[in-house]
Amino acid sequence: MIDTHCHLDALLARCPAAPARWLAAGVHAVITMGTHPDQWSAAEAAAQSAHAVGSRVGLALGVHPWWVEQVAAAEIPTRLTAAIAAASLPVVAIGEIGLDAVHAPATLPAQQALLAGQLAVAEALRLPVVLHERKTADLLSVALRRHPGLTGVVHGFTGSRQQAERLIEAGFCLGVGAALTHPRANRLRSMLAALPVEALLLESDAPFQPGAAHLGAVNEPAFLPETLRALAALRGLAPDSLAATLDANARRVFGPVCAG
Ligand SMILES: [Zn+2]
Repeated sequence: MIDTHCHLDALLARCPAAPARWLAAGVHAVITMGTHPDQWSAAEAAAQSAHAVGSRVGLALGVHPWWVEQVAAAEIPTRLTAAIAAASLPVVAIGEIGLDAVHAPATLPAQQALLAGQLAVAEALRLPVVLHERKTADLLSVALRRHPGLTGVVHGFTGSRQQAERLIEAGFCLGVGAALTHPRANRLRSMLAALPVEALLLESDAPFQPGAAHLGAVNEPAFLPETLRALAALRGLAPDSLAATLDANARRVFGPVCAG
């Protein structure tokens, strides 16, 4: 199994034994996010330490929309390109980038400028993108239309089935996390039961967004099998065969770092 979205620096600070636990749980690779230029070296160090205990780790670098007011958006493409060139591990994606209309809606125009610069870097370097979306599925679809060759994943998707289908048509996958285990997530569950399985990826968002069985606790990639089983039950599939499909999807998007 591959965890296509986690925040390893935040996770390992709280939970140093997490890599051993995800390996024991059958998670062989994780992709960890960059969120801010001042955090990129911490993301890289955390990725190195998980790699040292035997996990495959892909590094994503980017600036999260929550931090838009803390950076000079015009400088980000240059800084990002330099950081990718200097990284000691393979950078497999630009992320976590995106748009959030809930957290600080007044900054949306600035978020769009920050996103545009990072999408251009992804296109120039032929890297996939990992997108944060909160009530911004349509705005993301518009931004992506300017980069028809781009691929990637929309993580923690909150939109409608129609919006999901539009993103999938544009060549994007949707990340499936522990949110589907929450009792009231009926709309999400019925959407995930119906979308093409080739467009789904597993993700934890660890240490954030714990599932129903871990409320109030640190979320870990080791809990990914619970999300897998919940999705398999929804789709009427055996967990093992679903896991093989989802792993193949991750390899298609992120490349060899996800190989078994
Ligand atoms: Zn995240």
